[in-house]
Amino acid sequence: MTSLWPRIEPLLAKVGKPARYIGCEDGAQRPVHGAGITSWLLVYPDAYEIGLPNQGLQILYEILNERPDAVAERSYAPWVDMEALMRAGSVPLFSVETHRPANAFDLLAFNLSAELVYTNVLNCIDLAGVAVRGADRGPDDPLVAAGGHCTFNPEPLADFVDLFVIGDGEEVVGDITDVVREWKASGRTAGSRAQVLRALSRVPGVYVPSMYEVAYEGGRLAAVTPRYPDVPERVEKRTISDLASWPYPKQQLVPLTEVVHDRLNVEIFRGCTRGCRFCQAGMITRPVRERPASQVRRMVSDGLARTGYDEVSLTSLSSADYSGIESVVGDIINDPMCSGQVSVSLPSLRVDAFTVGVATEIQKVRRTGLTFAPEGGTWRMRQVINKLIREEDLYGAMESTFSQGWQRVKLYFLIGLPTETDEDVLGIAELARNCVAIGRRHARNVTVTASVGGFVPKPQTPFQWFGQTTSAELHRRIRLLRDATRRDRGLSLRWHDPEATLVEGIASRGDRRLGPVIEDVWRRGGTFQEWSEHFRLPLWEESMAAHGLSIDDYVHRHRHPDELLPWEHISAGLHRDFLWQDWEDALAEAGVEDCRWTPCYDCGACTGYGIEHVVASPVPPAGGSQGTGQDLSTGGAVPVALLPSRVAQDVGLAGTKGIRP
Ligand code: SF4
Repeated sequence: MTSLWPRIEPLLAKVGKPARYIGCEDGAQRPVHGAGITSWLLVYPDAYEIGLPNQGLQILYEILNERPDAVAERSYAPWVDMEALMRAGSVPLFSVETHRPANAFDLLAFNLSAELVYTNVLNCIDLAGVAVRGADRGPDDPLVAAGGHCTFNPEPLADFVDLFVIGDGEEVVGDITDVVREWKASGRTAGSRAQVLRALSRVPGVYVPSMYEVAYEGGRLAAVTPRYPDVPERVEKRTISDLASWPYPKQQLVPLTEVVHDRLNVEIFRGCTRGCRFCQAGMITRPVRERPASQVRRMVSDGLARTGYDEVSLTSLSSADYSGIESVVGDIINDPMCSGQVSVSLPSLRVDAFTVGVATEIQKVRRTGLTFAPEGGTWRMRQVINKLIREEDLYGAMESTFSQGWQRVKLYFLIGLPTETDEDVLGIAELARNCVAIGRRHARNVTVTASVGGFVPKPQTPFQWFGQTTSAELHRRIRLLRDATRRDRGLSLRWHDPEATLVEGIASRGDRRLGPVIEDVWRRGGTFQEWSEHFRLPLWEESMAAHGLSIDDYVHRHRHPDELLPWEHISAGLHRDFLWQDWEDALAEAGVEDCRWTPCYDCGACTGYGIEHVVASPVPPAGGSQGTGQDLSTGGAVPVALLPSRVAQDVGLAGTKGIRP
């Protein structure tokens, strides 16, 4: 297959950031394609600088390229300037390694980490020269696959994606490769596409939407039924039981241009059992699986030596909860190889003095600011969402933070949460104001930034039945906060656009009827909807109306407990009655503790699959772990997956992508 490079190279002088399209990163592979080799194009449907650091994509990239019967290359959504030139010159979507056309691959596999990228998925399929709708594809077209957290409600993309991977991808990509390899060997004859999709639907953790009939009654979803007896009624997620068997990425990519999270990233555990009720990532990734401390140390030292990075992030959904955190970070900062020049960041630490101490110790090299996420303004609100941070925890952490010389603190909050009152909203101002006062006891120039995002109820969580707060009401609550904080020196308030929260709400809990809306928005130019300069609410409103769909019904309506939800044939292992009980506990303002250290609540995530939590050290970590508060990060590095809205860290990117202000 001829490389498209001679046609791509002349375009690069005419676009911004040409490094987005050339590949050549340290760690990039030069896969050799050939007969009998199944080829994957792993596509991140957003700009290169957002997609390059994605760990999930890099893990699968290496695992596939280690197989003798598979190759994997990467592609990212071309920015609008490049897309215009590509369309004008009939240059299709291409891989960044060998600059092969996308439609020469056997699979186009998308990473879905946020709903607002859905229109970009359609745009990339179209740019690849492949029919946008699965039903219109022929035997020579690639299979279109998708993985990532959004696949726990795959229905809005059911018309466009041939197969979804539910859960961890490490093992299932091999199973898919086996099926596709056999299909290729059989000659991909006419009609065989339906057969290979049916075979794929029998692979555990793979959902093939075309194998299911969907029925509606009275405007409501009535049934999702397999078309064939060998297709499962319910698709259970895949879960790798032992992270130690998967020490990836071994060759993290080092970009030639600026990207987000530009540092060595080492995943220290997967899963979270804190039980924050708004957090889809925590619910769908249970149970906790920690990487052995010795392996973490080895991955850090090998990675630093290979990449030359001077910063390492120990990633997870709640990094301070890693049972060996203190000794691991101690070993890293005392490693002679680091010689005081390497800084460590721990996304998502707890809110307590112990973790501030750890943060201070490990941020000797480069100190930016500390970020805490109390999420709710009052203790009552935090009990509803099961974010059990008491005021004294937060103030103790502030005392520790400011007394150790930090001067900037960021606090993340959600508004529009279930049962929220004006008192809860004003509690945000009160908390932030008190944090400024504590800081002023230590320095005059402290700043506390309260960042406020609108809450989007997510599938597979206890809040999946909650009717999302309207954008008009979110605006009113933001005004309330602005008025309350207007005269507070040292306190700055930032908020996310409630209209983007609204569109995220449409896509988040949508069903298959949303497919034509997404297609319509894309056809009318609505790409890069995560970027504020490209976001266009009227396109969504007009398309919903044109297809006879009500935004109120999809977004703001409380779901009835007996209602069939569009994602109930997809299982994260969580029992429906557990989620409903947790929802009732939320309304009763009752918190539940982390099940890692308490008796099991039988949510289903372990019991249903016969797996258990894996901890590196079988005792709770120092500093307490049971409901003493969570989510402190150094340098503002909160993992996107934790957040109810999409976040981009401020790395000086052109544009203003991002939800969290
Ligand atoms: S099955 Fe039990 S131990 Fe496992 S995540 Fe659920 S509540 Fe926790």
